[in-house]
Amino acid sequence: MIDLRSDTVTKPDEAMREAARDADVGDDVYGEDPTVNDLERRAATAVGTEAAMFVPTGTMGNQIAARVHTEPGQEVLAERESHVVRYELGGLAQHSGLQLRRLDGGDRGVPTAEQVADGVVEEDLHRPGTGLLCLENTHNVRGGVAITPTEIAAAADVARERDVPVHLDGARVFNAAVALDVPVTGITAHVDSVMFCLSKGLGAPVGSILAGSEPFVAQARRTRKLFGGGMRQVGLIAAPGLRALDNVTDFERDHERARRLADGLDGVDGFDVQTPETNIVLVDVSGTGLEPSVVLERLRDREVLATTVGETAIRFCTHRNVSGEDIRRALERVEAVPFE
Ligand SMILES: *Cc1c(COP(=O)(O)O)cnc(C)c1O
Repeated sequence: MIDLRSDTVTKPDEAMREAARDADVGDDVYGEDPTVNDLERRAATAVGTEAAMFVPTGTMGNQIAARVHTEPGQEVLAERESHVVRYELGGLAQHSGLQLRRLDGGDRGVPTAEQVADGVVEEDLHRPGTGLLCLENTHNVRGGVAITPTEIAAAADVARERDVPVHLDGARVFNAAVALDVPVTGITAHVDSVMFCLSKGLGAPVGSILAGSEPFVAQARRTRKLFGGGMRQVGLIAAPGLRALDNVTDFERDHERARRLADGLDGVDGFDVQTPETNIVLVDVSGTGLEPSVVLERLRDREVLATTVGETAIRFCTHRNVSGEDIRRALERVEAVPFE
C-alpha cells in the first residue's frame, strides 16, 4: 500500500525509537521530566514564545487554548472550514461554553481584516463579547494553503487592537514557513498562542505543542490537568518529539513530491487538481461522475490510499514515509484506474 491519506500515518524511525528507550524521565506533573522540559524549551524557542507545553494531541492543545483565552458564553471567531469548527466535536461549546461565529475565509481559508472587524462583538448588557479569534495555518481543508505572515497579521491585528486574543491552529505551521521561505516566528509573532503537531509531517508518534506567554502556559498547565492530560514519565514520548523538531527542513522535499504528484494527477480524466502549496493535494473528482468514496475504493484496489474532503474532493498527502519512487508508482497505479 502507498498510504497518502495523511501525514499522521508516519511511523517513528529508528533514531526516535532509540531516543524513546534511552530518555531520561521524571514525573512531569511535578515538572520533573527533563526530556519534556527540554522539548518544551526547544519548542518555545522554535516558535519564538516565552513558554511551551507538551500535549498529547493537537485537539487538546486547541481546546486548552480556547479555554484559557475566554470566559463561558463568549464568542469565538473561526473560519468556517477550520479544524476547530469541523473536526473537534463541538469541543468549544462542550468544554468551555463558547459559541462560534463562523467566518468564510474563501479559497485561502483566512478571514480578511474587514471580516474580523465586522465579526468582533463588544460586550454589553445583552451580548457576551468576542473572546477569541482562531486562525489556521496551513489551512487543511482548503488544501494545505500556506497563509502568509501578511495575511495572518491583517486578521490578527484587527482582533488584538480590540483586545481579542488570537490563537493559531498551526498543526502544520512549519510546512507553511518552509513553503513561504519565512522563519516560522514571522508567522507566530502576530498571535498570542500557537499549537503545532509533532505527530504529523514532523514524524513523531505522539504529541503536539501549545506555546505562548509564561502566564498563558502556566494557566494552560492547570487546564491540561483539568482535561485529564497531566501525564507522568512522559519523556518516553517527548524524546521522539525532540528528534522530530529536526525534521522541519525535510518539508521542502515533501512539498516537491506533492507538486510532482499534482502534475501527474492533472493528466487523469475527470480530475481537477488544485496546485499544492505544501504537502496536501486536493483533487475535485466530480468530473469522473463518481462519488469520491467510489474513487477511493478504486484507488484502494490498486493499493493507493487517499481520503475524502467535503462532497466532491479527495485528498492526497505526502510525508516522510513516502519516497519519490512511491510517488512515481502511485501515479502509475492511479493512471491505470478505470474511472468510466
Ligand atoms: C490534525 C490537526 C489538528 C489536531 O491534531 P490531533 O493531534 O489529531 O488532535 C488540529 N488542527 C489541524 C489543522 C489539523 O490538521
